[in-house]
Amino acid sequence: MTELCGPAGPPTGGRRPDPQAIQTMDPILLIHPPVAKPGEPPAGIALLAAALNARNVPCTLLDANLEAQLFLLDRADAPPDTWSTRALRRRDEHLTALRTPALYANPDRYRRAVADTNRLLELAAASHPGVRISLSDYADEDRSPLASDALLRAANEYEASLFFPWYAARLPELLEESGATRVGISLCFLSQALPTFALLGFLRARWPGLTLVLGGGLVTSWMSRPGWQNPFAGLVDHCIAGPGEGPLLDLLGAGPPTADLGPDYTGLPLADYLAPGPILPYAASRGCYWNRCRFCPEPAEKSRWREVAPATVVRHLHALRAQYQPVLLHLLDNALSPGLLRALADDPPGAPWYGFVRVHEQLADPAFCGRLRASGCVLLKLGLESGSQAVLDAMAKGIRLDLMERTLAALSRAGIATYVYLLFGTPSESLVEARQTLDFTRRHHRAITFLNLAVFNMPVASDEAAELPGTGFSDGDLSLYRDFVHPRGWDRRAVRTFLDREFKRQPEIAAILRRDPLLFTSNHAALFTAHFPGLDGEGIKT
Ligand code: SF4
Repeated sequence: MTELCGPAGPPTGGRRPDPQAIQTMDPILLIHPPVAKPGEPPAGIALLAAALNARNVPCTLLDANLEAQLFLLDRADAPPDTWSTRALRRRDEHLTALRTPALYANPDRYRRAVADTNRLLELAAASHPGVRISLSDYADEDRSPLASDALLRAANEYEASLFFPWYAARLPELLEESGATRVGISLCFLSQALPTFALLGFLRARWPGLTLVLGGGLVTSWMSRPGWQNPFAGLVDHCIAGPGEGPLLDLLGAGPPTADLGPDYTGLPLADYLAPGPILPYAASRGCYWNRCRFCPEPAEKSRWREVAPATVVRHLHALRAQYQPVLLHLLDNALSPGLLRALADDPPGAPWYGFVRVHEQLADPAFCGRLRASGCVLLKLGLESGSQAVLDAMAKGIRLDLMERTLAALSRAGIATYVYLLFGTPSESLVEARQTLDFTRRHHRAITFLNLAVFNMPVASDEAAELPGTGFSDGDLSLYRDFVHPRGWDRRAVRTFLDREFKRQPEIAAILRRDPLLFTSNHAALFTAHFPGLDGEGIKT
């Protein structure tokens, strides 16, 4: 099918073509931009790749996040202090260790490897005043990723980006090789926003004829904001909200997506991620089947729940296991449905797995938890949010504390580790309720393997945002959250003081928090559980 392979190189200038008039089978380059945790391949572009391949659209995948971070690590030099000197000396040794199972049997060595590697990334930003980069984040004190004018400035001044040397070295070669005339960028996290716009600015300036398409979770959230008006129309040809397969294929004139496809990771460098083997993400649903919690952006953004049929999910997971031999499957759903959990227990995917669940009666059943463990479940993430029943009811969480207690006990007995998420500072909480959360956590500390503590942000489109007096948007015109006056005076500063001076100082809680894998947090947590079959050392007992 040579005639379908498109031109030998990207357009190098001239008038921008009408995007609607694009030839169907021109190649496309799909990019996962920096900065996100480099522990696993990106699910979004892998799913798009499967949809495009099924329609014979030539497509190339680029994990720019992983490659650019490795590029920066490789260029680190002139360390100014003892720590940095050691980090530089051990750079290759640490990178190799992070890709080796044995490291995950030794939490202290792991922490040192991550801290040293991160130190080198920090050093790479030393020549860019105001820029802070880590293995999990990127920030620029002069530019908010939530202000469209700052993002457009990042695009205009792309040569000043920390990533420009890598963009300039990698993109020309890749566009030449792939012959791509279209570039799709999957923007999911805020930490990717500024580097994404620098990349868009570079692509637009250097190859004005390219068609640029922007999608991903963050773009979806922006486009769900009330009164959204695209501020990027002069830079980006198409912004896509929600699942991208249909709109992208439609845009390319390639027909509807083929039903029931799983992600295709073949175009990504699976051996290069900072993990002891492939950790493969998989989304069995989009949105949330509960979709009622008042603090959550999902209902506020009116996302519709779409589930892949559980039998299809199981088939996909078997296929991923057979093709890539993952050390871990990462189920990305906001909440794995009870039906899917049953399907996994009935037909185990054959590789260890973890994911987020909403607590329900099935999970309080010790026999069912035993079957989940036998299916390969090594860790479940649970949104407890609060140890106050009144707060849970006010946020429409739909769970009872006694059910959570029974669930924690059943999971602990089954040997499934837990990553419990707590949320402080919601409108119905005060210090009294926050202390109830503290008491709950202490009482159940043996069944809580890991903890995530968050301070409440008011989703901009939520019902509560309309009900409570506020002081405008938190950060910029693209902010997803809104400032508000807490009705009980329990503001962010008071919450933070409570967390730092009281909550985190409880010995049982401090011990849980110390277990959290540095920077990689829940993405690596499952690897530190004693029963993780990929490792043979001593891990954390559940
Ligand atoms: S269960 Fe989770 S994802 Fe679903 S609405 Fe509640 S907080 Fe949001």
